[in-house]
Amino acid sequence: MSDLLDFDQNHIWHPYTSATNPLPTQLVESAQGVRLKLQDGRELIDGMASWWCVIHGYNHPKLNQAAKDQIDRVAHVMFGGLTHEPAIKLCQTLVNITPEPLQQVFLADSGSISVEVAIKMAIQFWQAKGKPSRRKILSLRGGYHGDTFAAMSVCDPDTGMHHLFNETVTKQVFTERPNCRFDKSYNPNSINDFKRNIEEHHQNLAAVILEPIVQGAGGMWFYHPEFLKQVRDLCDKYNVLLIADEIATGLGRTGKLFACEWAGISPDILCVGKALTGGYLSLAATLTTKVVAEGISEAGGVFMHGPTFMGNPLACAVANESLRLLIESDWQPNLNRIESILTRELAAAKSSARVADVRVLGGIGVIEMHQPVDATEAQRFFVERGVWVRPFGKLVYIMPPYVISDEDLTRVCQTMVEFTA
Ligand SMILES: *Cc1c(COP(=O)(O)O)cnc(C)c1O
Repeated sequence: MSDLLDFDQNHIWHPYTSATNPLPTQLVESAQGVRLKLQDGRELIDGMASWWCVIHGYNHPKLNQAAKDQIDRVAHVMFGGLTHEPAIKLCQTLVNITPEPLQQVFLADSGSISVEVAIKMAIQFWQAKGKPSRRKILSLRGGYHGDTFAAMSVCDPDTGMHHLFNETVTKQVFTERPNCRFDKSYNPNSINDFKRNIEEHHQNLAAVILEPIVQGAGGMWFYHPEFLKQVRDLCDKYNVLLIADEIATGLGRTGKLFACEWAGISPDILCVGKALTGGYLSLAATLTTKVVAEGISEAGGVFMHGPTFMGNPLACAVANESLRLLIESDWQPNLNRIESILTRELAAAKSSARVADVRVLGGIGVIEMHQPVDATEAQRFFVERGVWVRPFGKLVYIMPPYVISDEDLTRVCQTMVEFTA
């Protein structure tokens, strides 16, 4: 075992780590339900759902069966000129569960790629419409949209990677992080900076991109649905497309199937990913309206993207089963259950002088500290207590699998409160 960890430390990149001074890693031997089993026999209750994905828990018999059934038929075929039932069914379901105007689906191989695809769609649309100057994207500070180049260009310019790739990342237009909290009454002034930016730049804007209601990896911030409504209205007024990145928020996480529902709006382009296959395989999708799709295709235009593993049958088959499990379950009362436990248990953290804010929405619980947390120390603390929570920056947060029991969730929350005390 130490041979494996030695090689891992010396030769393998982990996300956002140094090659010479990497953070310690835990060796997972298997996982079941909400429990990660480590090689040394210890068990951890998972508070992270492996970065929002594993909504039904690990090693799920139905998802395993879906993968096994599909692998005995065909694991992969190219999507150019060929199609298959798993992809068709998946796209039917996505069209059915998303807002009505979204009727055309592009299957992407990861969240970041679905964002690249969304941005390309918006730019190609305006090119086809004879407005090639409309190619900038208006984005919110505090946002996160992935690690590829176009996605990076619309991530928060300070916490994102702009400083490292200053000369190579496209300059986009940024507006203030929405300062209107989800859980307070709406302040109409909070739209002012956005309004000013869209007024000033609309002739050069292809689209606005945002994470509806919950900004995830850019700061775990929850903002007021009225802000999103105002954004939709202003996009309509200035004829700018709206891209909703629901890669983290989609499929129930905020207490709605899609976070756009909080504001009752429909975007022109929607990205879905992360929980799509229940955490089994990498798959995402970009949906758009017939207006955008037909616009791009005017005068014989084609949409220019086509990854090798587009529409991978294995990933689609697991996604179909994962969506069936979600939709046929009592997911909404279940998310309410998770939300009330998070609210009740994390409230205790507010009494610590080290804690700046506690916020909860759906299956997301956040304790924001005044000072950044030491990641190595945090990991040791949680692992010693049989819990898997991985803070970043000032944020100690969880978004557990939806199948977590009251008892396990309470234990994870109490450990977070203990850590932040
Ligand atoms: C995780 C995430 C992405 C990137 O998805 P990957 O599958 O990691 O490429 C994009 N947008 C949001 C909102 C995300 O949370």
